[in-house]
Amino acid sequence: MILPINSIPISEIKEPFLKKNSISLQLLRLEQTDQFISGNKWFKLLYNLEKFKKEHYTVLLTFGGAYSNHIHATAEACHRFNIPAIGIIRGEKPEKLNQTLTQALERNMQLYFVSRNDYRQKQHPEFIKQLITKLINKNYITQQDKIYVLPEGGSNELAIKGCALIPKLITSQYHYLCCAIGSGGTFGGLIHGVEDNNTKLLGFSALKGADQLENSIIQLIKEVNVTNTTPSWQINHDYHFGGFAKTKPELFHFINVFYQNHKIKLDVIYTGKMMYGLYQLIKNDYFPKNTNIVAIHTGGLQGNHEFEKKGFLKWQ
Ligand SMILES: *Cc1c(COP(=O)(O)O)cnc(C)c1O
Repeated sequence: MILPINSIPISEIKEPFLKKNSISLQLLRLEQTDQFISGNKWFKLLYNLEKFKKEHYTVLLTFGGAYSNHIHATAEACHRFNIPAIGIIRGEKPEKLNQTLTQALERNMQLYFVSRNDYRQKQHPEFIKQLITKLINKNYITQQDKIYVLPEGGSNELAIKGCALIPKLITSQYHYLCCAIGSGGTFGGLIHGVEDNNTKLLGFSALKGADQLENSIIQLIKEVNVTNTTPSWQINHDYHFGGFAKTKPELFHFINVFYQNHKIKLDVIYTGKMMYGLYQLIKNDYFPKNTNIVAIHTGGLQGNHEFEKKGFLKWQ
């Protein structure tokens, strides 16, 4: 399984206010990794899929919401590598499937819908055991299957190891590395992968009221035994725009103007909010002069579909 990492570009972002504040801003274009397995999801999946193959599992089981970038990427990756996959989807089955779920089905991922209440128990071993019994009874899988359970968002120890590869793609010197955060697996990987202890990591939470996020990241990086001194890191909780997948007109406006100026598409759920927040912080002199910042474009563009359809995003 080979990552197409040689082809990942890094773009210098030029803006008058950056020049005025003597800030250099570069964007690592992980959204260019692959049309379908884009952004951070490739790195989160890489070692998990390798383990699946090496240890002769027969079915991959994972979890996500109806618009999940993780479901989208996992369906495509499993399809390419001939891995039978089941997506456990949060909420009742809708009358008409959205694009994310339609594409997952087209890639032979089997979908199984569970109520929001049940879905909350997705990490409990007992719940997973019962779920597997149901899947056997409904002929999704058989008694003989060896099932690889990948948690929601794909964030586990192997995902952290995969995401630790991301900083190695950046060859220039920088002071700050910025990334959008959902479950925290990617950010945990960056903490693990950054080698220069003077580098600071700044994450932007896409969730509202994620007061456990710091703790779960500490938990995640403990699992991978980070023995070297870790770089300092911090999470900004001010730019979730009302919560996960919530939007505001100024966010669409920002993404549209960013596209006009740089011809780079951002996604609404993660990278748009991160870049909006980063621009605000720079304008408010959060960073000292002559700071070099690298921000990571983690992909997620498939999730823009609904907003493009409604005309909120304009790529022209
Ligand atoms: C999934 C995702 C994230 C968040 O990754 P986590 O490891 O869950 O924190 C960030 N950006 C994009 C575009 C994503 O799809």
